[in-house]
Amino acid sequence: MPIATVNPANGELITSFDAHGEEETERRIAAAADTFRQYRTTAFDRRAAWLNRAADLLDEERDTVARTMTVEMGKPVTAARAEAAKCAKAMRWYAAHAEGLLADEHPDPDDVHDSGASRALVRYRPLGVVLAVMPWNFPLWQVVRFAAPALMAGNVGLLKHASNVPQTALYLEDLFHRAGFPAGCFRTLLIGSSAVEAVLRDPRVAAATLTGSEPAGRSVAATAGDEVKKTVLELGGSDPYLVLPSADVEKAAATAVTARVQNNGQSCIAAKRFIVHTDVYDTFAEHFTAGMRALTVGDPLEESTDIGPLSTEQGRADLEELVDDAVERGAEVLCGGRRPEELARGLRDGWFYEPTVLARVTPAMRIHREETFGPVATLYRVADLDEALHLANDTPFGLSSNVWTRDPAESERCARDLEAGGVFFNGMTASHPALPFGGVKRSGYGRELAGHGIREFCNATTLWYG
Ligand code: NDP
Repeated sequence: MPIATVNPANGELITSFDAHGEEETERRIAAAADTFRQYRTTAFDRRAAWLNRAADLLDEERDTVARTMTVEMGKPVTAARAEAAKCAKAMRWYAAHAEGLLADEHPDPDDVHDSGASRALVRYRPLGVVLAVMPWNFPLWQVVRFAAPALMAGNVGLLKHASNVPQTALYLEDLFHRAGFPAGCFRTLLIGSSAVEAVLRDPRVAAATLTGSEPAGRSVAATAGDEVKKTVLELGGSDPYLVLPSADVEKAAATAVTARVQNNGQSCIAAKRFIVHTDVYDTFAEHFTAGMRALTVGDPLEESTDIGPLSTEQGRADLEELVDDAVERGAEVLCGGRRPEELARGLRDGWFYEPTVLARVTPAMRIHREETFGPVATLYRVADLDEALHLANDTPFGLSSNVWTRDPAESERCARDLEAGGVFFNGMTASHPALPFGGVKRSGYGRELAGHGIREFCNATTLWYG
């Protein structure tokens, strides 16, 4: 895959970059490793000042970077601005909280005594150079979600960003540098995926984090396993969205539209499978389909656009294949199911797809098991909570989940039984710096954000004094 910006709204090549060769890659790894030796000893308040400065710069430059993201991967510019604002917020949150989250831990004095020590404690020390392999769907957020805690913990980062968002990748390197971080603290590697293995095997690289597809995660984890290096994986999701009889059905349907189509439907935590109790199914289906049909598909640079193009031609082809397979096997198309017929001139070569709702989905269809990365929802009718939970868990993924109910017993049952890294009640899944984020099953392992995230790339060191 070439390292290039190709506008998904019209297929136009904007700019391309030569990949870094072995020499340049070596220079960047060496700079990161050298910087780490000093950087690991910097005080929290210095790191916090640099990170707060990065947040301020990002706020000032929000409109420009939002446009860059939109042109690189097609998200509506309004969503791109919100993404930049969210990144600044996460930076400030970690600047304020990292020191507390990584404070020394003191075990119970009786246990310390029992271990034979006069004093014992746990100290969180940084691991070193962490390689971040990141996707294009939230080109700023996915990176900042890793970088803010990593830098606050005293680690340094090497970013291998997706090949279709090189300008955002270079912007991030520049942003951290201008904010005051030493030059080797955060570097972008303009390399293709085939060059990742060599970087990960380099003895100066301590660990890796990857957000992306299952094959990419498996490949990076296999190399890291061979090298005995720590990894955090945040892979795909096919989150269930349960609507039970006591729910506010109209609100559930309105939120369902946003939960499915945020970021043109290309979000790992988008709700993808809508599992609705038969008592409220018809009302939900009617409101949900009407909401999906009412969305404006068009130029993502327009303020009024709800849905832009998919980020790559291949992404749209994959989505079309899943829908076509389902329709051939008997799924009912409640809306969409095709490319938009009427698009403004200038957008006809873009990779658009209509918001789509499919009903009567069965396990015989690929879409029942595979992730839909685009504005396509599947609707299921269930007789009771048992069936809803069975269907919700009948997936290889386990990222997040959503439940609409006002019944406390049902909520408890879902909190206990849903196989996912999160259960969001009467709302949609969203990440927040103070709440851990990550999945189980094929959605990956490890956690990002909150205290859990910052400690993933720390050496929890036991200090024991005789
Ligand atoms: P990929 O997983 O292929 O890309 C994500 C990142 O991993 C990119 O930086 C990519 O580099 C890199 N990468 C890909 N393969 C390897 C490898 N073997 N070794 C090391 N690095 C690798 O995602 P796609 O863009 O191909 O999207 C495909 C599907 O992945 C989507 O349809 C969706 O299901 C899922 N996905 C999930 C995301 C999430 O947020 N969890 C985000 C993006 C995709 P390069 O760009 O150079 O190939």
